[in-house]
Amino acid sequence: MSGYIVDKGFYSSFARTQLYRMKPIQMVDLKSQYQKIKNEIDTAVIDVFESAAFINGQPVQQFAKALSEYLDINHVVPCANGTDALQIAMMALGLQPGDEVITPSFTYIATTEVVALLRLKPVFAEVNKKTFCIDADSIRSLITAKTKAIVPVHLYGQSADMEAIMQIAEEYNLFVIEDNAQAIGCDYTFSNGIKKKSGTTGTIGTTSFFPSKNLGAYGDGGAIFTNDDRVAEKLKMIANHGQSKRYYHDMVGCNSRLDTVQAAILNIKLRELDNYIAARRKVADYYDHAFANNKKITAPYRDEKSNHVFHQYTLILEGTDRDGLNQYLASKNIPSMIYYPVPGHRQKMFDAFDGKNDDLEVTDWLTERVISLPVHTELDEEQLRYITSSVLEYVQ
Ligand SMILES: *Cc1c(COP(=O)(O)O)cnc(C)c1O
Repeated sequence: MSGYIVDKGFYSSFARTQLYRMKPIQMVDLKSQYQKIKNEIDTAVIDVFESAAFINGQPVQQFAKALSEYLDINHVVPCANGTDALQIAMMALGLQPGDEVITPSFTYIATTEVVALLRLKPVFAEVNKKTFCIDADSIRSLITAKTKAIVPVHLYGQSADMEAIMQIAEEYNLFVIEDNAQAIGCDYTFSNGIKKKSGTTGTIGTTSFFPSKNLGAYGDGGAIFTNDDRVAEKLKMIANHGQSKRYYHDMVGCNSRLDTVQAAILNIKLRELDNYIAARRKVADYYDHAFANNKKITAPYRDEKSNHVFHQYTLILEGTDRDGLNQYLASKNIPSMIYYPVPGHRQKMFDAFDGKNDDLEVTDWLTERVISLPVHTELDEEQLRYITSSVLEYVQ
């Protein structure tokens, strides 16, 4: 690939080293990605400024419509961020304090924090050791008379086993809220051959447009999706101070809007989403190939029911020092991350919640062994060669 952005001062000081030619490696390279769509983005943003429709301007409705078409779902309700999306979803289902919500502990904190914020009770389920997503048998074992909802997370870009989860939900009459912040664009195939976008099977799906997400804005953003007309009305009202008619507030809501500037940017980036996913998959394929013969490295499992959109490329390491690798890579200017160093059931935040379930062997096992390598749309072969050879120098 050509067209690197070369900072001359930086590079001249590294002349004759390997870094001389190579673009610095980042977990996510949003600067280079922007350069490729700069003209379109700049025009769209300036249009918003000139229209001065800063709140709920036309791009917001345009984006909601475009995303609903992309996902093949009836309603998309834009909101301020992915955490709000989860909160509004839970509020719309009329859950009461003390109701139990089954959710993985092995996830970003937003998923479980919102449960606690609403004074619902988080009950942590185990994850599948291969897919990193919530385990259906574990869900089943945790159901009580107080269980009201299941919140699966499509972690790292691959869908949880929605067929099994929906079966349990139907059996026990539970709501399902899919946290799709990491997997937008992923397809899940049911055993009858029906294919759906992740986040569109449950009662409600939520997502985040945090800049580093697969569909990222240039600031915060989020959205909630549903096929249920009544749920959609409630979601819209709650996101707008509980009002359906201005100044008449029928229920307690909040103020959560997608910014018009962000919507204008997302309209452009949504058109690129499938290309972005393809670029991420190419990176994952390269890594898979490079690590295939190393017994200490388990590359991400590819579930045949769900294609992987590689929000993260996460390895499981055995028989080697994971944190040592993290430091070794850092010493070679290669970022790597531990997602996440402390699982939910070990966070102090939940100390006051009795019966949340602390017995999570797989979650604890994974927490000590996972490491995520850079994956984004702008990685080139030279960078990938340098990353993989560095990993293999350490993990022998
Ligand atoms: C990013 C993320 C969120 C929260 O999104 P924000 O927009 O940062 O509020 C929620 N759940 C998961 C799994 C995420 O990765």
